[in-house]
Amino acid sequence: MRKYLHIDLNSQAVRVEDFSGEQAAYAGRYFIAKTLTDMGVAKVDPLGPENPLIFSAGPFAGSSWSNANRTSVGCKSPLTGGIKEANSGGSFGLALGQLHLSGFTLHGASEQWVVIHLHKDGSYTFDNAEEFMGQGNFDCAKALHEKYGPKVSLAICGPVGERLGLLAGIAMSDTDRRPARLAARGGVGAVMGAKKVKAVVVDLNKMPTFHDRKKVMRGVKKYAALLKEDAAITTLKDYGTAMMADYTNHVGGLPVNNFSSGQQIGSDEGPLKMGGDFIREQNMERGGQPSHACMPGCLIECSNVYADADGNEIVSPVEYETLGLMGTNCGLTDPDDLAYLNYLANDLGIDTIETGAMMAVLLDAGLAEFGDVAFLKSVMDEIRAGTEQGLLWAQGTARVGDHYKVHRTPVIKKQAISAYDPRVIEVTGISMMMTAQGADHTTGNAPKYECSGKGVDELVDISMEMQILCATADSLGLCVFGRSVTNEHVEFMVQSINDALGTELAPSFFRELGRETLKYEAQFNKEAGFTEIDDELPAFFYEEALYPSEQVARFHADEVNASVDRWWQQHDG
Ligand code: SF4
Repeated sequence: MRKYLHIDLNSQAVRVEDFSGEQAAYAGRYFIAKTLTDMGVAKVDPLGPENPLIFSAGPFAGSSWSNANRTSVGCKSPLTGGIKEANSGGSFGLALGQLHLSGFTLHGASEQWVVIHLHKDGSYTFDNAEEFMGQGNFDCAKALHEKYGPKVSLAICGPVGERLGLLAGIAMSDTDRRPARLAARGGVGAVMGAKKVKAVVVDLNKMPTFHDRKKVMRGVKKYAALLKEDAAITTLKDYGTAMMADYTNHVGGLPVNNFSSGQQIGSDEGPLKMGGDFIREQNMERGGQPSHACMPGCLIECSNVYADADGNEIVSPVEYETLGLMGTNCGLTDPDDLAYLNYLANDLGIDTIETGAMMAVLLDAGLAEFGDVAFLKSVMDEIRAGTEQGLLWAQGTARVGDHYKVHRTPVIKKQAISAYDPRVIEVTGISMMMTAQGADHTTGNAPKYECSGKGVDELVDISMEMQILCATADSLGLCVFGRSVTNEHVEFMVQSINDALGTELAPSFFRELGRETLKYEAQFNKEAGFTEIDDELPAFFYEEALYPSEQVARFHADEVNASVDRWWQQHDG
């Protein structure tokens, strides 16, 4: 049995709901989509008190099951106006599970800024947050640990979230207590700011009880063995997600200079310094960590700790999408520059994808040259200081593009496109068009699928398969990077959930969970007023041929939607 907390911020009352086995299984992104749709919040002001902010952990939360302790955060997005689920690694989901919590919802809005502390004895306190206001996330985390001790995990609303900036995510503690794992996308940090919750502090405890603990522990060991013998996992551990830059640069799908090119350097022109190969070698020479677990127990360790020339940490982690959007897309060629900007973004608690895309739009608008590191740092300074410009820039790529009248503004549903140019990496492009989440590669990424010569139906088939499996992973607190194992062992995964929760779910539950999630999300967005045209790529993707492939986007929203309708007709039932 797990518990779920309904936290009323106006009255500071907490209602505790018991979650039976099945309720704890239908978690994360599914739970968020169903709850928000059932509550009818599609039309509310996303920064108003009627927009609930949900934190949900999966069925294995609190255990040492590798990569199964992610925390999903959900609400109506103030960035897109549609549904939002953003999930984060780190120790927050573990801490919730250790307190036998499936999650909690923040309802209403507090009058004064508060820190909510969930204690291991089941009690809770609302503390005045005044002393933490305005701090960067690293100082804030340090101060929170000084007050609450080392054995807690944190979810922090950073300084940009305090000012309702739509770049803001919610920062969660990593395994070394860095507040560097973000539920990043969609402006969820602004929703936390609108509720005047500066931080949620959760006591770390011990592994919770499970229905059949012995069987769960056997599952933990078997899953670990499967990861160990999987080649894709080994590569991810060695090179991290940064290795994706080597691939996308090679095929011409890397965003460079505000999506005006797909390649930063030709294969015969030397190593891509912004890629996984170069970064791994340099980082190891300097004494950094090429492999690092963002959450306790993760054996994939795709994360890293990036060191400077003197061996001192600059940031953890450097991820591919940040290298792409905040790096090559802004004209950077030296990963040291990117790493420092990444650190600044982490300290501000902002989404590096949205921020990178926004900064490239500023460069395209002529405010500075691509690659102007000093200007990019000054953008961060303005956002931190909350100047008039900083407040505008903190509203994200779509609004900044509108303001400066930049034709090349790479957004879908007002959320920045991730580091996969949809002219070349077409399945991921279709996923980013169709998902209710706004452009988000994590909803259905298939960057290595060979697309050339294939029609819309073939690509939609692949996209839908990925979208379902990603929605399932996001609903079970599983990191998608374990998918080469997880998706190949569905019966084992579902049996392990049954062992953990005492449920009798059939293997079909696994895909059903993802399918139902997509349906609820589509329903929510329809009720929020979205139509087919909102799925269209920006016009420049159809007009401008991308170097070096010279490809333009092939598919418009109407034909992709028709193909998706066909897919549902063939697969529903
Ligand atoms: S695979 Fe990477 S992102 Fe996923 S939980 Fe492990 S370290 Fe974190």
